[in-house]
Amino acid sequence: MDYLKGLNEAQFEAVTTLQGPLMVLAGAGSGKTRVLTMRIAHLITNGVDPFNILALTFTNKAAKEMKERIAKVVGDSDARSLWMGTFHSVFARILRSEAHYLGFSSNFTIYDAQDALNVMKKVIKDLSIDAEVYKPKKVLARISQYKNNLITVNAYFNNPELLEADERANMKMIGEIYRKYVDMCFRNGAMDFDDLLLKTNELLTRFPEVLAKYQDRFRYILVDEYQDTNHSQYLIVKALASKFENICVVGDDAQSIYSFRGANIYNILNFKKDYPDAMTVSLEQNYRSTQNIVDAANVVISKNLQQFKKNVFSENEVGEKIKVYRSLSDADEANFVSANIFELHNTQQRKFSDFAILYRTNSQTRAFEDALRKKNIPYRVYGGLSFYQRKEVKDLLAYLRILVNENDSEALSRIINYPARGIGETTQNKLIVFADSQNVPVTQVLDNLGFYAPQLGLNNGIITKLGDFWAMIKAFQVMLKTENVYDVAMEVAKRSGLIRFLKEDQTPEGISRVENIQELLNSMQGFIEEQIQVEGGDPSLSNFMENIALSADTQSNKDDDTDKVSLMTIHLSKGLEFPVVHLVGLEENLFPSFMSSSTREELEEERRLFYVALTRAEKQAFFTYAVSRFQWGKITDSEPSRFLSEVDSKYIEFINPMMEARFVNNSGVNSNIFDERPSEPRFFKKKDEKKTLERNFNTPPAKKLKPIATAKIINPSGSSSEDIEVGDRV
Ligand code: ATP
Ligand code: MG
Repeated sequence: MDYLKGLNEAQFEAVTTLQGPLMVLAGAGSGKTRVLTMRIAHLITNGVDPFNILALTFTNKAAKEMKERIAKVVGDSDARSLWMGTFHSVFARILRSEAHYLGFSSNFTIYDAQDALNVMKKVIKDLSIDAEVYKPKKVLARISQYKNNLITVNAYFNNPELLEADERANMKMIGEIYRKYVDMCFRNGAMDFDDLLLKTNELLTRFPEVLAKYQDRFRYILVDEYQDTNHSQYLIVKALASKFENICVVGDDAQSIYSFRGANIYNILNFKKDYPDAMTVSLEQNYRSTQNIVDAANVVISKNLQQFKKNVFSENEVGEKIKVYRSLSDADEANFVSANIFELHNTQQRKFSDFAILYRTNSQTRAFEDALRKKNIPYRVYGGLSFYQRKEVKDLLAYLRILVNENDSEALSRIINYPARGIGETTQNKLIVFADSQNVPVTQVLDNLGFYAPQLGLNNGIITKLGDFWAMIKAFQVMLKTENVYDVAMEVAKRSGLIRFLKEDQTPEGISRVENIQELLNSMQGFIEEQIQVEGGDPSLSNFMENIALSADTQSNKDDDTDKVSLMTIHLSKGLEFPVVHLVGLEENLFPSFMSSSTREELEEERRLFYVALTRAEKQAFFTYAVSRFQWGKITDSEPSRFLSEVDSKYIEFINPMMEARFVNNSGVNSNIFDERPSEPRFFKKKDEKKTLERNFNTPPAKKLKPIATAKIINPSGSSSEDIEVGDRV
């Protein structure tokens, strides 16, 4: 029982109390995830069958790491049998076995955000609705909200409040769009991410025998990051746990950062109401970070009114102060960070993988990538476009999707004329309209081309092309019955003409596309090997497709476990830790984001995000901000983030000598330190920017400086919120 030795008293209690509901509500770095991991190991050591344990994590990465740790205690074989993963991956697996209950085939396709968007665009077009008013992304976000609150299409139309609200918002077509979107997904034999939760709820509510089966299977349920579960997830957990009530949740209300996706902080705050006998454990000691980092984070989060009071302390070394760098531009900021990493790598013998660069939005990545490349520093960008979402990879995958699920018309439209084979848009439209009129999937028309040909109104040449295309797909399907997925995919890549087409482009981008296809094929080989090793492994194409559909937070295998700097949004960094963290772009309107600082609730969520970011750091934290930034297509002046002024000055130190001077002059009055007006010449690309600068130089310094906290929130370009990507990929 060596694994129990390192635990403190409260942790020990949480790990060794195996029966009944248990909640651990505690601050960052206090060992919640460690408790969860060790508790699973302890359950298995005490004779619980790993098949009876369900552990839900927020990311695939977290699940993988947890499994590895558990394997060290109980061995590989037991660890592999655990049901462990994200909500989406675990319930996709269950839905696959039970799909027939819901009228789906077990080969249903899982649509990622991009697929869903393509379908939504088609729906809006088919309904002849103005896509400017009903912006596809916005409509999808709304439908996602409905789904996560279990509001189905019928429930929507039966809810006068929702109908009225949408009418007031000039969105009265939402219901029709929702209906058509759901129909189209169903006809395509596809579920989107929210469906994976919604349909699981449907399965468990409508079919008591299915509920009973999984209640019996999952006798022990554990959930990490419980503060970020949404209503749909909450109900699934509650239903499954209701028989044995062996449920353990861990979380931190101060780290709830997904409310924009429907996360409901009350799920954790009301745990005691749901399970009045629940034992609650609080952990106070932070083992991750230096005292200085923990104290600074506590000061900031204490500004939030909405929170559970927690005492968090560290007995680690006091540590260095947080260093603040004020940069002149986004490029300057990125150069500082890469130079700093380079220096610490050399002088402190730190590995590159010790460093993280955390930012508020994905669009900030590029400047850092450029700067790191210049210094030959290896890095890895998490989130953003994952490997499996790159166009060429998705194209090959679309061929494979059709092999698994013929009804997937979204995949079909992607490949029917790619690479070009003379089946143009007019032909495709005719096919779709005809299939609709016959109420059959397009693929059924293709299956019976000879029969339908006279009614299609297409010339013989086109009919032959369609026939050839479909015969090729059928041949792949036959091959899939006897050959492994790698061989089939290789054949598809060659015979479809995809590789040949990509190879024609000899630019670096073109070459990298071919490499990506190669990498996809390699990953299939890796997948086959992995599955063969596991007892009950499934090397089928549909299992491969499911794995990648749900792996937005992982990249291709070749990127794993190498010594690289990590770049990611703060959202993605939740639960992780790094010896050195650079928290960048600390400016008003960027962080806090201008989209999320108009109400107290939104601002408090941004502050929690800041708390999450800072508490990722173990030894050293660096804050950076730029006084001007290339944003929304132009250079924009920016003010330092209010969060900088909320960190007590005793925890920070300025790197720029000029800032230190100001700091001393102002004898530590925080709001003054960060007041900005350009104080040195800069180079500008645009004339009007220069004018602004001159004007600023000519303005005498204000006597009384405006405190940052009351700064007006403006949207510098008036651009709409959908145009800005928030770091929301997990
Ligand atoms: P977060 O809120 O960020 O998810 P957490 O509460 O889940 O944090 P962990 O990640 O479990 O915290 O633990 C933080 C770090 O502290 C880890 O490196 C972990 O190994 C270490 N740690 C936790 N408990 C102890 C302990 N009793 N002794 C030594 N180290 C510990
Ligand atoms: Mg954790």
